[in-house]
Amino acid sequence: MKKLILLFLCLPLLVMAAPKVKISKFIIAHRGAWKKQGLPENSIASLQQAIKLGCYGAEFDVHMMADSVLVINHDHEFLGIPIETSTYEQLLTKKHTNGETIPTLEAYLKEGLNQKKTKLILEIKASEISKECSIIMTQKVMQMVKDLKAEKWMEYLSFDDAIGKEMMRVENKAKVSYLNGEKSPQELKSEGYFGLDYHYSVFEKHPEWIEEAKDLGLKSNSWTVNDIKIASLLLKNKVDFITTNEPELLMDLKK
Ligand code: MG
Repeated sequence: MKKLILLFLCLPLLVMAAPKVKISKFIIAHRGAWKKQGLPENSIASLQQAIKLGCYGAEFDVHMMADSVLVINHDHEFLGIPIETSTYEQLLTKKHTNGETIPTLEAYLKEGLNQKKTKLILEIKASEISKECSIIMTQKVMQMVKDLKAEKWMEYLSFDDAIGKEMMRVENKAKVSYLNGEKSPQELKSEGYFGLDYHYSVFEKHPEWIEEAKDLGLKSNSWTVNDIKIASLLLKNKVDFITTNEPELLMDLKK
C-alpha cells in the first residue's frame, strides 16, 4: 500500500521529467532518419528515428512486387534482387544491415500509426514494367491507406504525373506534391496538386516559385538539402519544408 501511495505522489514528477520532443515545423527525413545512426534507409528503424527526433515527416518509397505485395525501398532492387519481378518470399532471403527484412507498406504504415506527431510522406516509384502497373500499384496503395484509416497522417509524392493524378482521382482529398521540377506553381494548382517538392537547384533557378506557390495556396518543399547554407537560404525565401538526410543538423534552424 505504501508503495502505491508513493507511486501516486511521484507520478506528476515522473510525467514532468519525461523528455518532451519538439516537433519540427519543416523537416522531412528523407527515407527516414538513417544517416547519423548508421541505420538502413527506408527501414522501420529509420522511421522510428525520424519520429524520435520530432521530424514533421518521414519520407519513404513504395514499389509493388510480382505477387502484388507493396514494399518500402528506394531502388528497383533490394540487395541485388529485382523487386517488381520477384515475390515477397524471395525478398525475405535478404536482410537490411540491422537485421530487418524489407518492410511491407502495411507494416510501415502500422508502425507510423503508433504515434501522433510525424506525418508519413509516401512516394510511389513508377513501375519499370508498364504505365498500367504504376496505376494498379497506386490504386492498391490508396486502398491500403484507406483500409488502415491512415488518411489523416499521409502526404504523397511522385515524379510521375500519371501516378500523382491517379492518387488525386482515387482520393480527392489526397495531399499530393509533384517531384519532377518542370511544372510551374500555376500549372500544379490548375491540376489539383497540393504542392511542389523540387530539387533545390530548381528553386535556385526559379526563386519566385516559392512565393507564387504560397499565393496559390500550394506547399513548397525542397530536396535533398544536407547543407546548412542552402537550407537557411530556402527558409529565408519562405519555403515550407525541407527534405534532408541530415535532420539532426538542420533541426535548430529557425523558420
Ligand atoms: Mg523518395
